[in-house]
Formats: sequence, structure tokens, C-alpha cells
Amino acid sequence: MSKRPQKQRIMIVDDARENIKALGQVLRPDNTISFAFNGETALKIANSDNPPDLILLDIMMPGMNGYEVCMQLKANDKTQNIPVIFITAMSEVEDETKGLDIGAVDYITKPFNRAIVKARVRTHLELKRHRDMLEHLSSFDGLTGIPNRRRFDEFFAVEWGLALREGTCLSLIMIDMDYFKKFNDEYLHVAGDECLRKAAKTLAVSVRRPADFVARYGGEEFAAVLPRTDVKGAGAVAESMRENIRSLNIPHVRSLVKNYVTISVGAATITPSHNLSPDVLIKGADKALYNAKKVRNQVRTLDLDV
Ligand code: GH3
Ligand code: MG
Ligand code: MG
Repeated sequence: MSKRPQKQRIMIVDDARENIKALGQVLRPDNTISFAFNGETALKIANSDNPPDLILLDIMMPGMNGYEVCMQLKANDKTQNIPVIFITAMSEVEDETKGLDIGAVDYITKPFNRAIVKARVRTHLELKRHRDMLEHLSSFDGLTGIPNRRRFDEFFAVEWGLALREGTCLSLIMIDMDYFKKFNDEYLHVAGDECLRKAAKTLAVSVRRPADFVARYGGEEFAAVLPRTDVKGAGAVAESMRENIRSLNIPHVRSLVKNYVTISVGAATITPSHNLSPDVLIKGADKALYNAKKVRNQVRTLDLDV
């Protein structure tokens, strides 16, 4: 959290090279600048994995004009939260109203005043930074840095829907630290927190596919969602989680199973159908975890399709 904030990225979209140059000179010292000479390129950059934090958009451009670009940005989930400022020679009230109506946050007329451009851009970048921060706080766990329960619920619901539509199977893994209360009692809460951090990191790198998702489910419990993964695959991931936590070799002298930190893991798999609620999979994974807990430091699986 003490990291210096990164430079924010601004994309300037204008068909006139000299306008891009002039705006770039004003904004470059404090920000990272990219540019596009037409709407199509602008949309491509906005949709990339490294999108800008703010877009300065000209209106009159050959091909797609700025209004169309803005409408497309606002119609797309992936780009709709990127603030757009129109910078244009069109100075009629109707032009400006139209720009703001279709979702721009601000409107600056050319020829522009450098100080005003700088100040308005600064304001909107500041707002963007705050919005990004709130979004991060609402989705990630403060202690471990991995996705939180809220994000898990969202992700799980989306993946359930996708699996339902595609007719594919979905696996859920539930993980619970063994004798963690005793760990806190012995090594104190700060060490318990550190242990949870290490465990989260280890679990997060134990999954194999980019679509797999690991979250802190609550307290000393974690959960993983594995789309398009059958019970055998889920069992294998669960087993490598158990093994990877064991390999951390974190001493736990008061554990009744081993003298190091261990986890119990339950995995369940289902092919969703319309007459089933997503809760069925959660309950299934819980049941498998309950079975693992009878012995501890174990993996148990449950195939709900049979
Ligand atoms: P079991 O093997 O049956 O799972 O026993 P357990 O002690 O792990 O389970 P129990 O549910 O009795 O206790 C969970 C413990 O996890 C108690 C609680 O203090 C600890 N815990 C939960 N969240 C945190 C946390 O954020 N930090 C720390 N240090 N401990 C936590
Ligand atoms: Mg627990
Ligand atoms: Mg526990």
C-alpha cells in the first residue's frame, strides 16, 4: 500500500498529428501517453489488456467520428468506465450537450488553454484513481490480497451460468486450515495472519488454468472455482494444494495431525442444469470438506453428476 502510485495512462485520439503533439506536450510529464489517429484504433487500444485511464477524444475525424467512438466505449462493459473528455473545435452548446449526454465526463473546446486542460485532466484522473481503488477494496481481501468472498460470489454465479449454457462441468474446492485456532493460541494472531497470507499465495499458484479462481471464503477458509474441470481434475488440484501447503513447512506443534501446518480440502463437481440451484455445488464441496475434516490433512471429492 505504501507503493508510489504508478503514472496513469492517457490516450489522445485525434486525426491531426499537430493536435496530438500539442496535447502530448502538455500532459506527458505527469502521465503515460498513447495516441490513435482514428476511432477504430482507439477502440482497439481501449479494449486491450492495458487500457488507458482517460481518453481525450476529438469529434471530427474521418471515418468514425468521436461521438460514435464514445457511444461504442460506453456500450461495452470492458470500456464503459474509462472517462472520456471531448477536445474539439465544435463549440456550439448543442455539440457540448450531445457529448455529455452520451457519457463524456467533460468537454474542452479548441484552441485549448494548456492550464485548463492540465487541471481538468488532473481532476478526472484523480476521480478515476479513487474509483479504481474502491473497486479493488470491494473485491480483494485486505489481509491476503486475493479475491474476497464478495468477488467469489460474483465469479461463482457467472461461472455457474456459463457452465449451464455450455453444458460443461464445474468444480468447486473448499479449503480449511487444520487446528488453526490452536495455531493462533500457540504463535499468536500476528503469526496466524502471516500464515494465512502464505497459504493464500500458495493456493493461488496451485491452480493451473487461467480460468481457475481462488478466493478467501472467510476466516481460515479458502475456495477455488475450476470451470470445465471434472472431478478427477479437481481432485488433482486439491491434492496439489494440500501438498504445497504441507511443503511450506510452517511449524505447528499443537496440531493433532502433524507438527506443521496442514489443510483439509473438499472438492465437488457438477454439470449445472436448470432444475438445480448453485447452492447444490457449495453444499457438495462443504460435505466433501466435512469428510476430509474427519481425518484432516486430507482431500475428499464428491461427484454430484453420478
Ligand atoms: P479445524 O481443524 O476443525 O478446522 O479447527 P480450527 O481451529 O481450524 O477451526 P475453528 O473454526 O475452530 O477455528 C478457526 C480459527 O481461525 C479461529 C480463528 O481465530 C482463526 N481465524 C479466522 N480468521 C483469522 C484471521 O484473519 N487471522 C487469524 N490469525 N486467525 C483467524
Ligand atoms: Mg473453519
Ligand atoms: Mg480450521
